[in-house]
Amino acid sequence: MLIPEITLLVCVYNEEDNIFPFLDEAIPTLKSCTESFEILFINDGSKDNTIERIKKYPTNVPIRIINFSRNFGKEVALTAGLDYSKGKAVIPIDVDLQLPLNTIPIFIEKWKQGYLNVIGIRKNRDYEGRVERTITHWFYKIIDRISNIQIIPNAGDYRLLDRKVVEEIKKMREHTRFMKGIFSYPGFTYTTVTYEIKKRERGTSKWSFWKLWNFSLDGIFGFTTIPLRVWSYFGFTVCLVSFIYALLSILKTLISGVDTPGYTTTIVFILFFGGIQLISVGVLGEYIGRIFDQVKQRPLYIVDNEIILNNEK
Ligand code: UDP
Ligand code: MG
Repeated sequence: MLIPEITLLVCVYNEEDNIFPFLDEAIPTLKSCTESFEILFINDGSKDNTIERIKKYPTNVPIRIINFSRNFGKEVALTAGLDYSKGKAVIPIDVDLQLPLNTIPIFIEKWKQGYLNVIGIRKNRDYEGRVERTITHWFYKIIDRISNIQIIPNAGDYRLLDRKVVEEIKKMREHTRFMKGIFSYPGFTYTTVTYEIKKRERGTSKWSFWKLWNFSLDGIFGFTTIPLRVWSYFGFTVCLVSFIYALLSILKTLISGVDTPGYTTTIVFILFFGGIQLISVGVLGEYIGRIFDQVKQRPLYIVDNEIILNNEK
């Protein structure tokens, strides 16, 4: 098969109602801006009629479906998408039509100007809940401060990656898959394109507060070791302060004799440092858990089968 210019990478999980409307828009858009393309669906263990809908869609454009053996989550599905993609550039997109498809021609245009990464930036976050927006805001603030890779605020998975970038990302087999970080790790030239996000019309968002929280933790613990190292500095400072405090107490006792009030202070200190120790053990746990996942060396995903539609021409 000839190498297509663009791979449109679509991860789907229980999205039967979105397949037709999505392809209705995506195919003409791609036809208008690139000479050759393939649409690659990663079916992330859908339990509804998602696959049947894709198979039934009347078209002659090349479509491939990679069926996972079960649901592995969007981050892993994106990884598989990069592994199986064939295009000279890959554009990951959601199937729910929240992302405007008319950004694709701009992505391709910028890519042809020579940028190896074209990063989509969402202009508005109106369709996200307030809690979600607050967490996201703080999360980006923190991660930008403490991690050593540049993560552009409001950048999502919707972007264009040149084959060169894709090949580098394929080498990164870590199990903590925070794709926004992984996408930016290889570097190379980049530019940004802003777009407006739309409301989800069909199906339901797969995000929950808990998922978002865990996702943020993956971002932080997967991309920086600062939470681990901060305790040595904290411990050092505490030692220094307590040494000075000890000296002062000894002096005070020598000068004005023994007095033993201070029950409250003692309790407060014990509880405070007990808490601090538990937090630091928790931080260790976050890393050890991720090391445990990594050393097991399990495959990131399991593919049940691959379906190729309209490919031979
Ligand atoms: N998705 C997936 N696996 C999952 C959850 C989601 O492949 O476990 C897909 C989903 O079908 C959609 C995209 O990822 O195409 C984005 O999902 P969603 O709309 O729920 O996320 P949001 O837009 O709310 O961030
Ligand atoms: Mg969505």
